[in-house]
Parts: sequence; structure tokens; C-alpha cells
Amino acid sequence: MADTYLNFVDGTWTEASTSETFENTNPADVNDTVGVFQRSDAEDAERAVEAANAAKDEWAATPGPERGRILRETSKRLADRKDEATTALVREEGKTEPEAAGEVQRAIDIFAYFGEKAADIGGTVKSSSSQDTRLYTVDEPLGVAALITPWNYPIAIPAWKLAPALAAGNAVVFKPASLAPNVARILVECLEDAGLPDGVVNYVTGPGSAVGSTFATHEDVDAVSFTGSAKVGDTVHQQATEDQKRVQLEMGGKNPVVVTSSADVEEAADIAAGGAFGVTGQACTATSRAIVHESLYDEFVDAVVDRAESLTVADGLDGADVGPHVSESELESTLEYVDVGTREGATLETGGERLTEGDHANGYYVEPTVFSDVAPEMRIAQEEIFGPVLAVIPAATYDEAVEIANDVEYGLSASIVTNDLRESNAFVDDVEAGVVKVNQQTTGLELHVPFGGMKASSSETYREQGDAGLDFFTISKTVYVG
Ligand code: NAD
Repeated sequence: MADTYLNFVDGTWTEASTSETFENTNPADVNDTVGVFQRSDAEDAERAVEAANAAKDEWAATPGPERGRILRETSKRLADRKDEATTALVREEGKTEPEAAGEVQRAIDIFAYFGEKAADIGGTVKSSSSQDTRLYTVDEPLGVAALITPWNYPIAIPAWKLAPALAAGNAVVFKPASLAPNVARILVECLEDAGLPDGVVNYVTGPGSAVGSTFATHEDVDAVSFTGSAKVGDTVHQQATEDQKRVQLEMGGKNPVVVTSSADVEEAADIAAGGAFGVTGQACTATSRAIVHESLYDEFVDAVVDRAESLTVADGLDGADVGPHVSESELESTLEYVDVGTREGATLETGGERLTEGDHANGYYVEPTVFSDVAPEMRIAQEEIFGPVLAVIPAATYDEAVEIANDVEYGLSASIVTNDLRESNAFVDDVEAGVVKVNQQTTGLELHVPFGGMKASSSETYREQGDAGLDFFTISKTVYVG
């Protein structure tokens, strides 16, 4: 029997008012039930907002150093539970053990980082043009922040929203994705154990259409920080704008690696394969297009196919290089894109099959996949796939490669592989992406620098992480004292 887990509202672990639950299963083995979670509805979401609203003033008045102490203590509590959280993450989402351990460590680091920052939040003294005026800014929390997160980084993304929101003095209502609510629950337990006052964080599981949309539209919610698909993000954006709430959106990507004629092919193949097949391609920053100079094209395709075929696809707890898809529908969606690519006339170089034999029988496994002869307008070169599928597109010149790189609706992360400094400098200027990498994978972020995208990837107004992460959760007053 799997354990049943509750919502956390006003400092109490509590059942949903619906008395309904849903099961969360292990994508590596659908017979393994990870846990049973509350299928909450709008009423539960409203209760959570009420609790946050009641708690917000006291938390805002709590001195920054004390808020920081609680965040640092949360980091320590999570570090003590790192192995448990890592296993929970692998079992619910399908990452490999090293990927999951890295993600949990990132959450530990994020809480430590914002725990240090909390004491410095408050404002800045400025000099005035008048000797008789004292001029300074005061940064205040917004009030109640709604945090709505996806399944694909089920502890790191909640951490990079929760920690700055709390450091800045906001109370929070938090809805994790239904495919991966368990490791987020562990994080909430760490916050509770660290001494966070009742009502400051409220965790409610259930459908986005009920819980998420109630959070996003509630009159007592002042800000919405959403990470997920562009489709849902657009709805959240529309609602939040109508209600005049502050909104932050991080959405999809169609991230390119541009390989120029000066590149080292082996290095380029490592960079492209690492970004395309790591975390099963289920990252917003995953590489899904390699745009390769025609002089290196055939050699690059062979090298990247070799890498795809050398990877072990298995349960993340069994030493896999690539884990399963998170769910059957995500797997089906990837297989559908494989069909689309083949129908569109691309050449399927390797992969593309579901693995169903032996240890793969009960999981959502698909082979790492490489398409060559991909034209920029094909759907596999335009739409986010969110699986381990790489489309290799030829380009005759650097200019053509950049034009192809930019000719998609998204603009999240982009990389160039080159040994020519002028090309890399030009790329930083030319490419439409919020994250630009030179001779590095499109995936992989540092926590103290801003993160966000351009075009349909982001709301563009507010970045996440680092000081930029705090900006979203604060509002500033400018004070003139005569
Ligand atoms: P999703 O949009 O389906 O769901 C995201 C969250 O929104 C979930 O918690 C969901 O329950 C909730 N939700 C659903 N309907 C809602 C509604 N009407 N109102 C409010 N909330 C609602 O996304 P997903 O499938 O969980 O995640 C995958 C997507 O996330 C991909 O597109 C990926 O690119 C994107 N992503 C982006 C980033 C980034 O930082 N740019 C990071 C990770 C994932």
C-alpha cells in the first residue's frame, strides 16, 4: 500500500475538502505507486489563499535575518534528507539518480543562497542633489504569491520560486504539478521543520484547472509565478493581466546548437547529445535542434548517432544514462513527433522506438532519436517535443544558421560551437535567446545569475534566479526626507 499524502494549509497537514485522491506512479514501473495525493478543488485553494493572506503581515514584519535563518535551516533539513528526496524524485519523475541528486542539491543551494540574501533585502540609500534631502528606497514584499510549477524539475523549480518569495517576505500558495508532487512535499516538510510560521507556505495538490486557476485568479493573490507550457502560460497571463496581478512566466523552448565550420566535430557532438538526451530531453532548455555547417554535416550526424546509440536507457535507480518519460501521454507525444518527422521527409538516423522488452516492459521508455535532412519549416524543427529527439538541420553559412536558429516562436537557450571568436561574439548579439552558451550545452544553469527567455518562452518582464528572482517578489518605494 502506498502512503497517502495531504495538503499543507495554515500549518496543518490536511485532507482535501473533496475527499478525493489521485495516485502517482513510477514512470519506470507503472506497478510501483509512489503515493496517493489529495485531489483538491477550488474550495481548498481558496482556504490556502485565506491562510496565506492571514499570515502575510506577520511574515513581512519578520526581520530579514530571521527569515534568512529559516531558509538556511530549510536548506540544512533538505541536505539531511538528500538521499530520500533523490530517490523520491527518480521514482516520480524518471530522472537518473545523478540527475536527481544534482537537482536536489540545487534546491539545497538555492535555499542557502536566498537565506544569505534575506538579510540584505530592504532598500538602498541614494545621494540626493539637495544637501537637505535624505533619499532612499524601501523594498517591500507584494503580499501573497501564487507559485505554479511543472513536473520536469519538481524540486528545483519550486525552490527557485519559494526561496526568493519567502526571503522577500511574501506568503505563498503553491501548487506542484500532479505528475510529480512528492519531492515538493518533502521540501514543504523541511520548511515546516525549519520553523516557518503557520500559513506562510500552503501546498495544495490537484488539477491545474481547479487549484492553479483559483490561485491565478483569486483577488487576494498579488503575484503569480508560473513555469510550464506556453499554452497554459498564455491563459495564466491573460487572467493575471485582467486582474492586474504581477505575473512571471517561464515556458517552453526549441533550443538550438549552432555548429560552425570552425567547430571541432567531436566536441560539437558531445555538446549536442548532452543537451538533447540528458534528463530524457524533458528540459525547457533541452537541445532539440543542431544547425550544422554543411562542410561538417555528415561527420556530425555520424558522431551524434554514435553517442545516441551508446546510451543505456533504463530505470534511473539502475545506473541508466537516460531514464523514462514521465508519463504515457508524454511518451505518446514523443512517438507522435517521430511519426511526424518521418512523414515530413526527414531521415530517421537512429532511435524513435518505444522500448517494451524485459526491464522496459512496465516503463515509458523511448530510444534516443536523431533525425537528419531536417528542413527548418518542418514541425520537428519548430515545435517543442520534450523528449530525447534531435533534429539536425544543414546550413551553408553562419548567417543562414542564425536565421534558422531565430526562426521559431521560442527563445529560451541557444548555443554555438565554434573556434572563431568573431563568430561567438556575433552570436551573442544575433541570437534571440535569454540564455546564450558558447561551446557549452543549452542545458545547465547557475543559480546566482538571471534566467529567462525571449518571445514565447517567457513573459520577458521579470527574470528568475539571483537578484532578478528577488525583484519579482518585491515592490519598491522611493523616500524623500527633507
Ligand atoms: P503545464 O503547463 O501542463 O503545467 C504547469 C503547471 O500549471 C502545473 O502545475 C499544472 O497543473 C498547472 N496548470 C494547468 N492548467 C492550469 C490553469 N488553467 N491555471 C493555472 N495552472 C494550471 O506544463 P508541464 O507539462 O507540467 O511542464 C512542461 C512544460 O514546462 C514544458 O513546456 C516546458 O518547456 C516548460 N518548462 C519551462 C521552464 C522554464 O523555465 N522556461 C522550465 C521547466 C519547464
